[in-house]
Amino acid sequence: MKNLFITICLLMGISSSSIGQENYKIAITNIHYWTAGMEHSSQETTTIIIENNLIKAIGAEIKIDSSYTIIDGKEHYLIPGLIDTHIHLMDSEGPAEMKETEFSYLSILGTKNANRVLMNGVTTVRDAAGPTFGLKKAIDEEMTAGPRIYPSGAALTQSGGHGDFRTLCNHSQIKGGYIDETESMGLAFIADGKTEMLKGAREQLRKGATQVKVLVSGSISGKHDPIDVVEFTEEEVNEAVKAAENWGTYVMVHAYNDKSIQMALNAGVKSIEHATLISETTAKMIKEKGAVLSTQTYVFSVDLPYFTAEQKQKRKEAEEGLNTLFSLSKKYDLLVTHSTDIYGDPNQFKNAPKEFTLRQKWFSNVEILEQATINAAQVLEMSGERNPYKEGKLGVIKEGAYADLIIINQDPTEDTKVLSNPDKNINFIMKNGKVFKNTLDK
Ligand SMILES: [Zn+2]
Repeated sequence: MKNLFITICLLMGISSSSIGQENYKIAITNIHYWTAGMEHSSQETTTIIIENNLIKAIGAEIKIDSSYTIIDGKEHYLIPGLIDTHIHLMDSEGPAEMKETEFSYLSILGTKNANRVLMNGVTTVRDAAGPTFGLKKAIDEEMTAGPRIYPSGAALTQSGGHGDFRTLCNHSQIKGGYIDETESMGLAFIADGKTEMLKGAREQLRKGATQVKVLVSGSISGKHDPIDVVEFTEEEVNEAVKAAENWGTYVMVHAYNDKSIQMALNAGVKSIEHATLISETTAKMIKEKGAVLSTQTYVFSVDLPYFTAEQKQKRKEAEEGLNTLFSLSKKYDLLVTHSTDIYGDPNQFKNAPKEFTLRQKWFSNVEILEQATINAAQVLEMSGERNPYKEGKLGVIKEGAYADLIIINQDPTEDTKVLSNPDKNINFIMKNGKVFKNTLDK
């Protein structure tokens, strides 16, 4: 297994020099570091000790014996591995293309995407719709390189909703038509009525979903749903919430417009995705209900070749709400996370880190870093007993936390733009105590 992993890493161009060693002991020395709670990177340099997959100790005076592999972090900056709370690793260029994609191709595409995301310095993702259960397993088993995955499985969608990609000639939900390919691939699950919602949620939980994803509003990329519509009723969404809560976890919803967000919050939803068409009343309600905001900026500037004029118009409308959304999120002190909503091929994922530059229009450098570390980790913890990574904390640098760490050649607390060019600026990537990139000596 180890040899296979190293071979894959070599094929993918990942440094495999220290992957898979037993009794892994690493000391990162002479490093400036930042973790949530600090206003900027440490002025003084320090030593970080990693044993196996966890951070063992942090301090300037730590003695290191010869059993440690030393990584000299001189003139570099260390932060926790980044977290993306909304991404789609296994969703090809778009629903139309996915219908023509055989599953083995999709699996390899997902593997490449996962690899690219890790090379962006992202060590954990919450996958917001798509058949990533097997990909997660393969990554955890070190068959291939990628981030930790919190999978949602298929997103629950109503007939005609954002995830209903049937053609207008397909009447499968009424009688006897063929099941749409995006459903059989596990990207979406069409459900109408309370019983089907329960069934849909339970199907995903059965496969290992760490949270349930429901599509409750009109969308940009949906074929038949205007962006202003509300999808599902409160009673239907509440069935998914009940199924998730019985399983010890929560529901995240795709929702752009105000009405749909209010409906979802009343149904007990805890994570609101996108939310760019939000009003002040709803922002207040998010705070009162203790829900979180997982939203994006870069994705609105991606020019997808297959987008129609109508889809482009919907995207523009959604993007225009960002100023209001972020000023309200500040006013009501809402928990905002870093997320990209990227899907497609590795080239799309290569551009995802532009998010770290675009957010500077609204947030300070430290706020942006917090969104991609501690805030995002807080959202992942909402999976409760279904959280697959409970041995250590994610998104922080402290004793006992997971050794998910990246080292950068410039101080990201001075300018997060450095994270937008990971191939150049991120010199070292560690996940679960294992090294996936190290160009510090070069
Ligand atoms: Zn999405």
